[in-house]
Amino acid sequence: MKNLILALVAICFAAIVTAQNATPAATTPAGKPATAAPAPAKANPAPAVMFGCPKCDNVAPKEGKCPTHQVAMVKDHSYFCADGSVSEKAGKCADGKEMTMMDCKSKMMNARAKSAKEAKPATPASATPATAPAPVKK
Ligand SMILES: [Zn+2]
Repeated sequence: MKNLILALVAICFAAIVTAQNATPAATTPAGKPATAAPAPAKANPAPAVMFGCPKCDNVAPKEGKCPTHQVAMVKDHSYFCADGSVSEKAGKCADGKEMTMMDCKSKMMNARAKSAKEAKPATPASATPATAPAPVKK
């Protein structure tokens, strides 16, 4: 009988803790914005011109080479060809194909989605352990 009461108390306690945690979590499902993390793409007007690798999702805030591919990074919204030529406006490449527009924003979103998948954050708000006490709150 005592155990039952203890269990009920534990469940009540868990429910209260969950309710407290759920309130802020509902508004910011991605977690609290750390100072290091960039704001969501939408609300973040790019402060400077970005450059992206034509071959992968690497982006950089300045001109340079992709550390992976050792090719020149292309300015955001510039157009480039597979042969490495770059243009400020749309056109055709030497091989007759349409030039591709560098889209750093979508690259960053790809990279973010990829890293989010790799380093998966715990989702404590939805998965609620009823029995385990949750004394740690960060
Ligand atoms: Zn690259």
